[in-house]
Amino acid sequence: MRPLIIAANWKMNTTPADAGELAATIAARTEEPGVIRVICPPFVCLAAVRDALKGRDVAVGAQNVHHEQAGAYTGEISAAMLNGLATWVILGHSERRRDAGETDELIGKKLARAVASGLRPIMCVGELLAERESGRAVEVVAAQLKGALAGKDHEELLRAGFVIAYEPVWAIGTGKTASSADAADMADAIRKTLADDLGWGKAAASVPVLYGGSVTSANIAEFLGEPSIDGGLVGGASLKPDEMAGMVARAALVARTRAGAEGRR
Ligand code: PEP
Repeated sequence: MRPLIIAANWKMNTTPADAGELAATIAARTEEPGVIRVICPPFVCLAAVRDALKGRDVAVGAQNVHHEQAGAYTGEISAAMLNGLATWVILGHSERRRDAGETDELIGKKLARAVASGLRPIMCVGELLAERESGRAVEVVAAQLKGALAGKDHEELLRAGFVIAYEPVWAIGTGKTASSADAADMADAIRKTLADDLGWGKAAASVPVLYGGSVTSANIAEFLGEPSIDGGLVGGASLKPDEMAGMVARAALVARTRAGAEGRR
């Protein structure tokens, strides 16, 4: 059975002075069994968030990592630097594809580095509005997956706890969401690409696929109502403890329902 995951992407919000308190508040408000909680603050807030979450069952993630081990890369952060600060990492977020020119090939290199360094990756994929409107969404996402994952050892990725986030770019931070049916169809298409085009076979079924794009406590139930969707990668709403409490509570309910259904099989 795949885990239920609610991952908070704080993007370029919070400071070292306030991030710890927010993380502690969220941790206290989201104590529910059966849900993996991850908070991904900016790099400079990682230590404060790690300290605030000591003794809590909430993981800390980075929002990016460099693909090289070390060297002349001004302003960059290596996987080794994250050691002791973060155990998860978001890779290939559409804001980095757009603003930092990250390509599928580069994201593939980052993925290899993250896995080799013991970081649990959440790799983001998703289409632009024009691509969805022209009926090319599945093709675009499949190309992103193949570009980043071709040649990778899927067993190694699975051991690292590899997670995919389907985030239609037009839904991020816009208040618009994909329909839950479209998101579920994409989650199925993602696993089909892994299984058939990338040679993962049956193992593809074990990869958690999250939905991201204007997820809130008011709409998360629709997405988690789809058996192929295993949680959310949440931006704006993840900065609000009430919102996080609502989303994690719903995920816990779904986790219980899915575990019950599994038990009856
Ligand atoms: C994100 O940060 O990945 C995201 C989906 O943002 P938002 O929830 O604000 O749309």
